Amino acid sequence: MSEKFDVIVVGAGPSGNAAAYTAAKAGLSVLQIERGEYPGSKNVQGAILYANALEQIIPDFRDDAPLERRIIEQRMWVLDEQSFVGTHFRSDDYNKPPYNRYTIIRAQFDKWFSSKVKEAGALVICETTVDCLLLDGDQVVGVRCDRQGGEVYADVVILADGVNSTLARKAGFHPEIQSKNVALAVKEIHFMPQETIEARFNVKDEEGVVIEMFGKITDGLMGTGFLYTNRDSITVGVGCMLSDFKANPNRTAPYAMLEKMKAHPSIAPLLAGGEMKEYCAHLIPEGGFHAVPKVFGNGWMIVGDSGGFVNATHREGSNLAMTTGRLAAETAIAAKAAGKGFKAKQLAGYKAALDDSFVMKDLHKYRDMPNVFHDNSQFFTTYPELVNRAAQTEPVRIFVFEA
Ligand SMILES: Cc1cc2nc3c(=O)[nH]c(=O)nc-3n(C[C@H](O)[C@H](O)[C@H](O)COP(=O)(O)OP(=O)(O)OC[C@H]3O[C@@H](n4cnc5c(N)ncnc54)[C@H](O)[C@@H]3O)c2cc1C
Repeated sequence: MSEKFDVIVVGAGPSGNAAAYTAAKAGLSVLQIERGEYPGSKNVQGAILYANALEQIIPDFRDDAPLERRIIEQRMWVLDEQSFVGTHFRSDDYNKPPYNRYTIIRAQFDKWFSSKVKEAGALVICETTVDCLLLDGDQVVGVRCDRQGGEVYADVVILADGVNSTLARKAGFHPEIQSKNVALAVKEIHFMPQETIEARFNVKDEEGVVIEMFGKITDGLMGTGFLYTNRDSITVGVGCMLSDFKANPNRTAPYAMLEKMKAHPSIAPLLAGGEMKEYCAHLIPEGGFHAVPKVFGNGWMIVGDSGGFVNATHREGSNLAMTTGRLAAETAIAAKAAGKGFKAKQLAGYKAALDDSFVMKDLHKYRDMPNVFHDNSQFFTTYPELVNRAAQTEPVRIFVFEA
């Protein structure tokens, strides 16, 4: 472990894998350290994979990536206790290659992505936790791991260690994460025969459906639910802002919220007969534009959830993670080529590239959305109730425009 690398990447989720792959493919010496038993073993996502971010890194990923179903139909439901009002958008355009989004199971997907990282030439070490960054004055020069003699050095350390980035906090790059900037989500995977899924959702072969939901299911808390079709399983979950869970007078627990959601008369039949084999809970950084911290400095860059790069309005995180990972690696590659060192000045191109990408442009566009929803809890109480009541009592009038 005493060797020196060009780049050390901490974490093997989508952001870390994108960074390690891009840097290794360009010929840099890369060490990637992951605390899980294998990449993906600790990772949680819905999960929808938006193809374009990965396409820019591995253009032919469709040839061998473990993809579950391509999404051809998107449903949006506003739920009351007993009913829902919804929109369904389905298009055969989504059945024409190249398909633009897929459901995935992260444990398999991250493992596959990591195999590409190794093929590109990076050294990947699992079951190893990075305890802290090594500093020479204010320059990050490496990391210390929980292995004997576990000090290892690099010109640049890329922090891809996820939402609760203890390393950035310990080094003073981040303040403590605030509960108003993170959502707590729980999800389950229910297995059932492929034919059952295809009959229930009116799809065939590798076609899939996603349902995004909000309304009374979150007990007045700011949050959403989701249900995604995989090949032979269904993922179902719900998440709300952590500060709302804390302040909620009913003290609703996340798992109780999910149980209630699964029992909803419109959701229960979709899950009936399935065998639940996986349950997990995870934080999602949903503070948006205003919560993005400083993301580079002397010898370090922050990517993915660790930098708060999630667009909650679009329900996207993994593609922002992969794009930020790629841009950080490209910055390290350019700094190495320039040969002028790895101080903040040489790594500032990372922030400029982020600002120029969809990542910061989208986060900026939706910068006020978290507050709009948070300050107007009627989106999760009164409005769903009114819409559903109107549909029930005035079914024709609300859907027909008067001449
Ligand atoms: C329930 C849920 C549903 C979601 N659904 C979607 C979706 O449908 N579509 C979408 O695009 N996004 C979704 N997201 C968001 C998406 O999962 C994240 O944005 C994405 O995983 C971020 O990737 P990352 O690589 O930055 O972090 P992570 O995937 O969290 O990876 C961080 C890695 O770092 C490792 N690590 C942490 N600390 C250390 C350490 N000290 N030493 C070594 N290793 C360490 C961890 O073990 C982990 O492997 C969802 C998130 C959740 C929780």
